[in-house]
Amino acid sequence: MSCIFCKVAAGEIPAAVVKRGDGMLAFKDINPQAPTHLLVIPTQHVPSLNDVKDPTLLGRLLVFARDAARDAGIAERGYRVVLNTNPDGGQTVFHLHAHVLGGRAMTWPPG
Ligand code: AMP
Ligand code: ZN
Repeated sequence: MSCIFCKVAAGEIPAAVVKRGDGMLAFKDINPQAPTHLLVIPTQHVPSLNDVKDPTLLGRLLVFARDAARDAGIAERGYRVVLNTNPDGGQTVFHLHAHVLGGRAMTWPPG
């Protein structure tokens, strides 16, 4: 098993976990791009959005991200949920994850 986020999910690599349940895990990004920067992953390995077979997985991922943002206190001011997909999308870890970014105003367009 070489997937770094599978190792995080299994507790084999330490992470600052902020929320777990419903087959999902939220933890702090090691290289934060905003005052709040969480990653939400399914504990089950799925490489990217392109590989998702079960649409309910995406619903659960989004609801979990929404609830993690609420728990982090950024829901009311606002936040951004990002799923980088494959090289042009900027994906570097090939285990499906949603970035939850907040605590500052986001800019648009993204880089
Ligand atoms: P992406 O570039 O969309 O694939 O995002 C991968 C993210 O994972 C990056 O923002 C990294 O900073 C983050 N990351 C990589 N390894 C770890 C780790 N061990 N714990 C927490 N975040 C990590
Ligand atoms: Zn994995």
